[in-house]
Amino acid sequence: MADTLDDVHEIFAVRYAHHDRQSPENFLFGDPHDILQPLAYFVWVIRGPHGTFVVDTGFDEAMANKRGRTIVRPVAEGLQSIGVKPDEVKDVIVTHLHYDHCGNHDVFPKATYHLQDTEIAYATGRYMAHQVMRIPFEIDDVIAMVRKVFGGRVQFHDGTEQLAPGITLHKIGGHSKGLQCVRVKTKRGYVVLASDATHLYDHIYEGRVFPVTFNVGDVLEGYSTIKRMADSLDHIVPGHDPAVIEKYPAAAPGLEKFVVRLDVPPRA
Ligand SMILES: [Zn+2]
Repeated sequence: MADTLDDVHEIFAVRYAHHDRQSPENFLFGDPHDILQPLAYFVWVIRGPHGTFVVDTGFDEAMANKRGRTIVRPVAEGLQSIGVKPDEVKDVIVTHLHYDHCGNHDVFPKATYHLQDTEIAYATGRYMAHQVMRIPFEIDDVIAMVRKVFGGRVQFHDGTEQLAPGITLHKIGGHSKGLQCVRVKTKRGYVVLASDATHLYDHIYEGRVFPVTFNVGDVLEGYSTIKRMADSLDHIVPGHDPAVIEKYPAAAPGLEKFVVRLDVPPRA
């Protein structure tokens, strides 16, 4: 007999890469402070009564070198550190098709990939004819996803859909045309894995916008949507903020700075 907690999940943030940069690079119209404001790179894991869901797949060493980023722990190793075997994962949610969210194409050979209709249309359609729009995309990532479509391994979603009890996908758009967030029920309430709907806490807290953007208006509207979806501001998890790794407890001893629990409250 199912108990009443069959929709409650654990969530982990798995940090895999790092990039030092100055704050003006993180905001449309720049930043007057011009301070060091690094980005962290994560994949996320949702674990519960309906199995294990990996959110985004990160990039590998070759892409880190190409893009001038630093791998701190390869994605597969980070996942294994919390007992997730990549070659057994059945469900991968891809928030969007930017290079830092959909690489490592062969690490999840048994997985079905969950993607918004709008995102594959965006990544293969008219806007990619413009060099500026292509900057955050890699042709090999897009082709790898198209191959998975033809391999019967992509499940498409349109707007808001439930993946399992307590796990819903929500199309936000803005940063990328078909960007989706994931809302997860946990023992502390509803947590939103915002991915790049807000890169840093500063973006959603201050109503500021990351410079790489398909539609500024949709980014700003997205902030309102996410705030309604999450139980509090402390239930919103930004896509690239190094503070996430400081605020939340390590998943296990020895995983400090690499894997943290998001289904427990952050430190005040
Ligand atoms: Zn990103």
